[in-house]
Amino acid sequence: MNKIRYELLHVDKYTGARRGRIHTKRGIIETPVFMPVGTNATVKGLTGRMIEEVGSEIILANAFHLFLRPGLEVLNHFNGIHNFMNWKKPLLTDSGGFQVFSLKGRKITEEGVTFKSPLDGSTIMISPEKSMEIQQTIGSDIAMAFDECVDTKITDYNYFKESVDRTFRWAKRSYEAHNRDDQALFGIVQGGLYSDLRQRSLEQIISIPFDGYALGGLAVGEPYQESEKVLKEFANKLPQDKPRYIMGIGSPTMMLLSVENGMDMFDCVLPTRMGRHGTALTWKGKLNLKNSKMTFDDKPIEEGCTCYACQNHSRGYIKHLYKRDELLAKTLISIHNLHFNISFVKAMRKAIEEDRFREFKEEFFKTSTYPLKN
Ligand SMILES: [Zn+2]
Repeated sequence: MNKIRYELLHVDKYTGARRGRIHTKRGIIETPVFMPVGTNATVKGLTGRMIEEVGSEIILANAFHLFLRPGLEVLNHFNGIHNFMNWKKPLLTDSGGFQVFSLKGRKITEEGVTFKSPLDGSTIMISPEKSMEIQQTIGSDIAMAFDECVDTKITDYNYFKESVDRTFRWAKRSYEAHNRDDQALFGIVQGGLYSDLRQRSLEQIISIPFDGYALGGLAVGEPYQESEKVLKEFANKLPQDKPRYIMGIGSPTMMLLSVENGMDMFDCVLPTRMGRHGTALTWKGKLNLKNSKMTFDDKPIEEGCTCYACQNHSRGYIKHLYKRDELLAKTLISIHNLHFNISFVKAMRKAIEEDRFREFKEEFFKTSTYPLKN
């Protein structure tokens, strides 16, 4: 068995923040970890070398998008995603659930989810077994069980209850269908914002010996206080000896909240999406590089930053590139933003090791303009 192994190194004395390490056959992932998103087998605008240089130890790819294009035949031909995109470090795939459930006209049955292909309108079914086939063909190091991500507009308790039980049955089927012994498989706890249903889902999902566990159905537009409640109540009920992953988190505020409560892994498109929209993330707050104030600014995006963009270029130059719609502007800001997020998790790790996570958090909000609750 070449699956992953989680090593808990230290728990902060005053919070639930954990410092750990995930051992994989493609290298060690220090935790807490931020995973850049590479939807289509590319982190938008960055070469593999750039992704490594910003310090990424693991990236995420979307099973659903890769299943549609290039498709399993191509991925099979290239012997999996690592070879296809020439990425040698660990990679995690989501199950496709989140994307499928956001499609119009989807139909959920016990078997799985049926939907119209956004490419040609043909009918496609994704079941737990199909999701495992897709992820095993992609060959990610960590695969996710197929779950139901309930539409946030649904507030019907009974629907959530049914969905939690269905997610449990799908989790068991995912576990049964998964047979690649060099790939880890994580289970996903659902239950929305209902405390009793979260508890029910948690007990169900941790009864299956997955290699790690995720909290799903958060970061989907709910108020900060609601995600805080779920994290405070449930993060620490996840097994101590396995990695804990919260999906769709990437702002400093939400990363702090997640880590404080004992989560280890998160992913988000935020740094690269903001980069493409001309906004940089810095230790002081967000910086709009499109602003006319930048025109004659010869400082880097962030003074003291060791990323390629800051080591080589001025705000004035990047603003000029952005205004001319040059590709390089988006690449440079994305490099900086990913470097920022990864430096941020590194700083959290150090604070945990020194039992000063709470001070770190307080200091961060004192010296930056990021919202305390958002
Ligand atoms: Zn930088």
